[in-house]
Amino acid sequence: MSFEKFELHAKIFAGVQAQGYVKPTPIQLESIPPIMEGRDVMGLAQTGTGKTAAFVLPILQRLMQGPRGHVRALIIAPTRELSEQTHKAIAVLGRRTELKSASIYGGVSVQNQIKKLRDKVEIITACPGRLLDHINRGTVDLSKIEVLVLDEADHMFDMGFLPDIRRIVKHLPKKRQTLLFSATMPDDIRSLANDLLQNPVNIKIGFTAPVESVTHRFYPVPMESKTALLKDILDKTDTESVLVFTRTKSRAKSLARQLDGSGYKVTSLHGNLTQPKRQQALDGFRDGRYEIMIATDIAARGIDVTRISHVINYDMPSTADAYTHRIGRTGRASKTGDAFTFVTGQDVGLAHSLKKVLGEKLQYHSVDGLTVTLPLVATPAPVRRNNNSSGRKPDNGRRPFTISDKTNRNQKQRSFGEANRQYWAQ
Ligand code: AMP
Repeated sequence: MSFEKFELHAKIFAGVQAQGYVKPTPIQLESIPPIMEGRDVMGLAQTGTGKTAAFVLPILQRLMQGPRGHVRALIIAPTRELSEQTHKAIAVLGRRTELKSASIYGGVSVQNQIKKLRDKVEIITACPGRLLDHINRGTVDLSKIEVLVLDEADHMFDMGFLPDIRRIVKHLPKKRQTLLFSATMPDDIRSLANDLLQNPVNIKIGFTAPVESVTHRFYPVPMESKTALLKDILDKTDTESVLVFTRTKSRAKSLARQLDGSGYKVTSLHGNLTQPKRQQALDGFRDGRYEIMIATDIAARGIDVTRISHVINYDMPSTADAYTHRIGRTGRASKTGDAFTFVTGQDVGLAHSLKKVLGEKLQYHSVDGLTVTLPLVATPAPVRRNNNSSGRKPDNGRRPFTISDKTNRNQKQRSFGEANRQYWAQ
């Protein structure tokens, strides 16, 4: 099936062609028709599946008809990067439509945004905090919104934005189309969806392109050898752009400084940077001036840099979802990528869960002198009484850190996104 089937306006179709999209992705195939019919949609899909165009194209189609000069569509995103990225996607896909969009987020001048908003835009992509600020100042009018999109709703929940979202929604017309996209569906998001969406079409795209097109490697390593291991990998691996994740802002900063001192072309992205500095880092990473970016989770959300060949988890993410989102930064669209994760003794619980999900896609790697054999503490075997005669202590369920069995246990889960996998495998 091709994009012609959606019968998009010729000016929008030109944008699709300019982007080089030939075939709709599974999420686009399933969402575009009901959104174009005006239905509410709840999409369970991660970034990397093509979900931005899945809602941007029908929005542009709707806005081609009807009045111009006031805000008719609002897209709320958890991070500045995602807001900016969606704004850019609108600019490219809608470049022949003369529809205007503004990207609204904190950390930059309010006055410039007020000017942009006065410029009579039809679409706003926004982060909740700054949007509320504009609502309170009376510098944005949302009373004529026809479509509301909540993108990466689970991240907005993680970041504590749900109360803000409920406040914003009070300023929108009750009669509107609402689309909600989320990679996971925690109870709070389900209840938000129940309150905001009317008779929605539910669309679920299981595992996403990145998971399927990415190879995963775990390196068991003591904390103190992580930097040496990182350098070893950077020196010996054929890479394009490399995104390295740390757990804290201060570690992102100090690791970047260390690598910079050793001559690597490196930058960092974390919450302590001013917006111009963030943009500088991102632009430099995107255009290849910096080969390596050290980032924290929140800062890296929404980064769409197609040439990221490797994601390296210097620190293990805190949840399996966070892992999926991090590695979603590589293997974008049909590209492949590698995800390397450093696993310390404290991380084996999550490492074990990930192994169950990823099965044989996940390989353990060792590097002489740097990696170790860790004890497996994640799922201890039942403690046996020491009634043997060898005199050895009972092992208390600890055994060497080799994760080999049960690789196929989650076959069922993995086949969830079959259509999606097949699409991106083409
Ligand atoms: P998203 O999930 O919206 O962040 O999109 C992930 C990547 O897929 C972006 O680089 C998009 O430009 C790309 N993409 C979206 N739709 C298509 C398509 N139909 N064909 C090829 N690439 C696409």
